Amino acid sequence: MTRTAEIAVFAGLRGPARTFTYAVPDGMDAAPGHLVRIGFGARSTAGVVTALDVPYEGALRPIDALVHPLPLLRAHQLAVASWMAREYRCGLADAVRAMLPPALAARARSALPPARGERREALFALLPAGRDALAAGAGLGVRQLVTLRALAAGALTGADLAAARGSAVAARALARRGLVAESSRAVRRVPVEFRLGEEDAVRHAAPTSGQRDALAAIVGRLASGGAFLLHGITASGKTEVYLRAASEALALGLGVVVLVPEIALTAQVVARFVARFGDRVALLHSALSAGERFDEWRRVLDGVADVVVGSRSALFAPLARPGLVVVDEEQEPSYKQGSTPRYHAVDTAIALGRLAGAVVVLGSATPRVTTYHAATTGALRLLRLRERVNELPLPPTTIVDLRVELHAGNRGTLSRALRVALEATVAKGEQAILYLNRRGFATVVLCRDCGHVVPCPSCEIPFAYHLEGVLVCHRCGRRDDPPDRCPACGGARIRHLGVGTQRVEDEARAAVPGASLIRMDRDAVRRKGAHAALYERMRTGRAQVIVGTQMVAKGFDLPGVSLVGVVNADTILNLPDFTSAERTFQLLTQVLGRSGRGSAGGRGILQTYLPDHYAIRAAAAHDYEAFAAAELLGRRRFAYPPFGRLVLLQTQAKRAETVDRRAEAYAAALRAAAGADAQVLGPAPAFAAKRAGSFRVQLVLRGSRPERLLDRVPPSAEWTVDVDPVTLLG
Ligand code: ADP
Ligand code: ZN
Repeated sequence: MTRTAEIAVFAGLRGPARTFTYAVPDGMDAAPGHLVRIGFGARSTAGVVTALDVPYEGALRPIDALVHPLPLLRAHQLAVASWMAREYRCGLADAVRAMLPPALAARARSALPPARGERREALFALLPAGRDALAAGAGLGVRQLVTLRALAAGALTGADLAAARGSAVAARALARRGLVAESSRAVRRVPVEFRLGEEDAVRHAAPTSGQRDALAAIVGRLASGGAFLLHGITASGKTEVYLRAASEALALGLGVVVLVPEIALTAQVVARFVARFGDRVALLHSALSAGERFDEWRRVLDGVADVVVGSRSALFAPLARPGLVVVDEEQEPSYKQGSTPRYHAVDTAIALGRLAGAVVVLGSATPRVTTYHAATTGALRLLRLRERVNELPLPPTTIVDLRVELHAGNRGTLSRALRVALEATVAKGEQAILYLNRRGFATVVLCRDCGHVVPCPSCEIPFAYHLEGVLVCHRCGRRDDPPDRCPACGGARIRHLGVGTQRVEDEARAAVPGASLIRMDRDAVRRKGAHAALYERMRTGRAQVIVGTQMVAKGFDLPGVSLVGVVNADTILNLPDFTSAERTFQLLTQVLGRSGRGSAGGRGILQTYLPDHYAIRAAAAHDYEAFAAAELLGRRRFAYPPFGRLVLLQTQAKRAETVDRRAEAYAAALRAAAGADAQVLGPAPAFAAKRAGSFRVQLVLRGSRPERLLDRVPPSAEWTVDVDPVTLLG
């Protein structure tokens, strides 16, 4: 009887229905997870076997070939892929494809040509004939015998061979006799920023009592699986908990995945894993060339590396037995993939844990309130680290009301209080960080007298100001003209305003002319390694003041910094998004945590037009619980996550009428089919209402199970579907 295989086909079609049944030719040892070559229509393409022996009647095309002799996806990965397909309403083929190195999935080749600029080295492996020759031993020189013997233990490079007293020359001679195979691989280099300067001394330090309890809980579940939120303020020792839990997992023969939000900005965390686990670490991130990525992935598949550190997609590394999955800084929006499959790495990590029996640890000082809510209601176990390791207090923080500054005639970006604090810090030989919230691409209309932000009258969320001079509500689509006078106080100084790093830099230079000052924003760190170089200037004390955006809030561990000044604490707060307050609280907490890490102590200053907002107040008071309580109250009121689920649907077209008509029609169909589990909001213009010459429109579904509505009224291929979006401002 012909065997059959279900295959997720990579090329050819869009949409979810992309698995097809093929016949397995006699003698082909196909298994789930195999990457195969198949005919599809008139073309030859690649796919992955997802199941065998599916019932099928009729004629079937046979699989042409196995691309690789071994399955490239493991059983638990296939299970995660089908979970993703269901959860995010994407194709199984999309999910499966996201799990393979891009170059491999695209070309379906087992070996890759070297990427440009990549150094490669020879790799030698024993062939079966070589094993026989080793037994017979006849006609081989001493060096050749030693070389053969060394290769019997596994594939080696020329350098490895030399260390084992063999040689590449001898190996090549053996290759000519058909006893050894020669191939090449990229020279693996761990970039400098991932190497630690100092000794890894903490390795032997006694754990704090908080760390001990957290570790006991995590390690206790390594055999069975479980999901945890490790909630601890910055420098409370979370990373050390990850490292020690990882050691325990490895000791049990289990693999470890550590996700970091943006690898270049979390170099120190990565470096600590490299320092502790050496060559067992595989680094997987987007800055790698296709060849490097393939090689790192291959090291995991071969079992050479069993600690995978990387961004989002490192979750899909082919570990044989994943036992521990850590997601550091679980609140970061970069864990959400912005293109199909639009998965959230945190939720996918939890699914992986469940499907593979692994422990999942989400770490954060400022977890998303959805995660925190899950931890307080029992879906996750909550572990807390309440104090900084060295018992350093969190910096006392002052809120400066910018409206008062304006009344006093100060039109600069630095308040009097911040200027004075900056001067004093520099005079004492200490360091300061001046932080700017990066602004969104649109903005709000704000009264510079009373701080009032003009809201949509029906939705109470701020109107977004668009460059063509119109106010748009991104929830209901309402449009309005910007007012001439503030609706709250009647003042005339109402407008949208923004501050750039450049301007802050100039004013700070004028305030402390003697200090060495540097600026760190996206422009300044575009060059590779620039981030590390600027950081180094602060670390060694060559610079005293750094002005920057989000980048200075992450991974900066500088004992010399005793002042953090936030120039515009409320810019993100004003964005009309359901996560605006949360992002504001997270970013402020993160950047304030950079102050007072050394003996000099520290303080913080938050400049804002909204001094009474709960996100600002809670950040200044270092009070996560107060923030979460207030935020969850608002989320409940509008049925936002975790009290409701969101689906963001977007579509675009060159002509406004086309896209409007399409959106109206689909919205009407959805509304007609909607039950109690979903509410349809919009259509409204997308936040980026026009992109690359196309008009963009969105619909939002909200409810207990809004994704089910899509099963009843499926979107056409012109729509993108984002289940559980992290922002509605895409
Ligand atoms: P977090 O990840 O919460 O920011 P870390 O794990 O980086 O915290 O710890 C903060 C600092 O304290 C680091 O410099 C780390 O090396 C050190 N540290 C962590 N745990 C201990 C410990 N048990 N004993 C001494 N130092 C520790
Ligand atoms: Zn509205």
